Amino acid sequence: MQASAANKKSMSEQPTSRITQLILLPIVTAILIGGLVLGFYAINHQALLELGDESKNRLTLFVSNLNGSLARHEYLPRLISLNSKLLNTLSYRDPVRVNVANQFLQSVVTATGASDAYLMDADGSTLAASNWQKAHSFVGKNFSFRPYFTMAIKGQPARYFALGTTSLQRGYYFSHPVNLHNEVAGVVVVKINLAEIEAAWTDRGYHFLVTDEDGIIFLSTKPEWTYKSLAEISPQRTLEIVKSRRYSDHKIEHLRVRNITALGNNLRLLGLIDKTGNTESEYLQVSREMKQAGWTVHLLSDTTSIHETLILRLTLAGFAALSVLLLISLYLVNRQRRLALQQSTLLLEKRVHKRTEELRNEIEERKKAEQTLRDTQSELIQAAKLAGLGQMSAGISHELNQPLTAIRNYSQNTQHMLERQQIEAACSNLIEIETLTKYMAGIISQLRGFSRKSTGEQSLVSIKQSAEQAISLFRAEVDKSKIQINLDIDPEITVTTDPLLLNQVLVNLLSNSIQAMQQCDTRRIDVNMKQSDSDICIRLSDTGTGISDKVIENIFDPFFTTKEVGLGLGLGLSICYRIMQSLGGRIGVANITSGGACFELYLPYE
Ligand code: ADP
Repeated sequence: MQASAANKKSMSEQPTSRITQLILLPIVTAILIGGLVLGFYAINHQALLELGDESKNRLTLFVSNLNGSLARHEYLPRLISLNSKLLNTLSYRDPVRVNVANQFLQSVVTATGASDAYLMDADGSTLAASNWQKAHSFVGKNFSFRPYFTMAIKGQPARYFALGTTSLQRGYYFSHPVNLHNEVAGVVVVKINLAEIEAAWTDRGYHFLVTDEDGIIFLSTKPEWTYKSLAEISPQRTLEIVKSRRYSDHKIEHLRVRNITALGNNLRLLGLIDKTGNTESEYLQVSREMKQAGWTVHLLSDTTSIHETLILRLTLAGFAALSVLLLISLYLVNRQRRLALQQSTLLLEKRVHKRTEELRNEIEERKKAEQTLRDTQSELIQAAKLAGLGQMSAGISHELNQPLTAIRNYSQNTQHMLERQQIEAACSNLIEIETLTKYMAGIISQLRGFSRKSTGEQSLVSIKQSAEQAISLFRAEVDKSKIQINLDIDPEITVTTDPLLLNQVLVNLLSNSIQAMQQCDTRRIDVNMKQSDSDICIRLSDTGTGISDKVIENIFDPFFTTKEVGLGLGLGLSICYRIMQSLGGRIGVANITSGGACFELYLPYE
């Protein structure tokens, strides 16, 4: 029951597992591929955001550094515009005062680390300068075209970025009006060199750009980007820039940018085309305005490292996904194999179970049949024995009558002898009587043994003794019919068998032979034997009528007899046949050419 239930379960699981396998594998593959693609975008986006955060921090640092550098010098022009040496120079313009002013400005520059400091009159001509001794001295030069002058002369402190017209260095100019008698009489300017700031921030794996209000890069940690514009500049504005000589003779070009992608949160992705115009580099851009200076600072971080990390991560993820797929496939294949194996095992178990049941029934039936056969056989043997006893009763009676008559005669004689006091003769008679009773007891004992049911116990039997025992039962008959019995068997030969059953077979055969020779002139029975490695054969032949061909076919059938009613039951040979089988042997019959029948009893020899 259990096996069949499990079997049914496994039968239903088999197709289900195939369907599951067919559906599950593509779904898992699609999920993994989808996961990889989504993972690519998610990881990429996350990495860009992380880089953006990092960039913002760097930018903050850079901007505060830049602000700090500017702030350090911002107060200077105002401070020195009040200096009496400069005011005197502006008032009198004599060489001695100019010289004093020059030295003063030089000391200011040395003390503050500024690039240059100079004093201009109301026309924009330089009266005194810190670099008065140098070849590119500003003294005598006119900078009225510079916006920092035009604004300051109007009374407004100004700051301005430009290339130095003589030094061609990028400088940041702080200007302040110089008042004489409450009027703007000149302008004092402090210039700082931005190239130093730039140098301090190069070679850091990322790039800083500082653009002016027109989007022109005037400060960059990547030299080739300097004087390029990030935004388009109108022709009119270009003319103005040229006129201001802010960037000297540098031609302002548009920085070649493509694929600008806004990532939000002030982050942009830029594709920059390098000098050769072939290779495109991708940068993450983050920008911040420096309102006071009118600048915008940009930080550009190369995304190559992100892509490399991404490719590495995706390769690892791909391997992991492939491993997962492989494991799932192995699991499914293994599961299907296991189910198939389970199914065949259950099928086999079911068959074995069924066959065992059948065999058990067969064994049960066979045992019953054997028991029935044994019972029948035992009944038949007993019936045949009783029948045999009946047949032998005449002989037995005769055999017992003779000693009885003799005992009666001896008793009568003994009585007379005792009356006559012939004690010795009486004793001799009593001894004769004792001998006769012993003889009779022997006959009765043999008959009892013959009629007793076999116990089925086997013992070592002397074949000669067994034959002699059987023959002795027919002594009266043999004597009466003048039958010659030749017993030619080695007394040493023994066989392990049931002695009672062997005796019964021999008695049956002797009885038949004696009957078959009744009408014959020569009456002889030969009992001998032959031996082989595997068995012993007891041969019993007579000089009787022999057995006709018709009779010999059915001779071992039960109730087959040729004898008249009351003389034979037809059971003797059929019982012999079964007894020999039960003893593990067999019985055979043949006619002798000289006349008579010969029976052979084969017994297994051990
Ligand atoms: P029953 O002796 O009661 O007839 P058996 O089975 O012993 O039954 O014998 C069957 C028949 O076999 C006999 O009726 C007889 O015809 C034949 N038969 C048996 N032994 C001999 C023999 N030694 N010679 C000739 N015929 C025999």
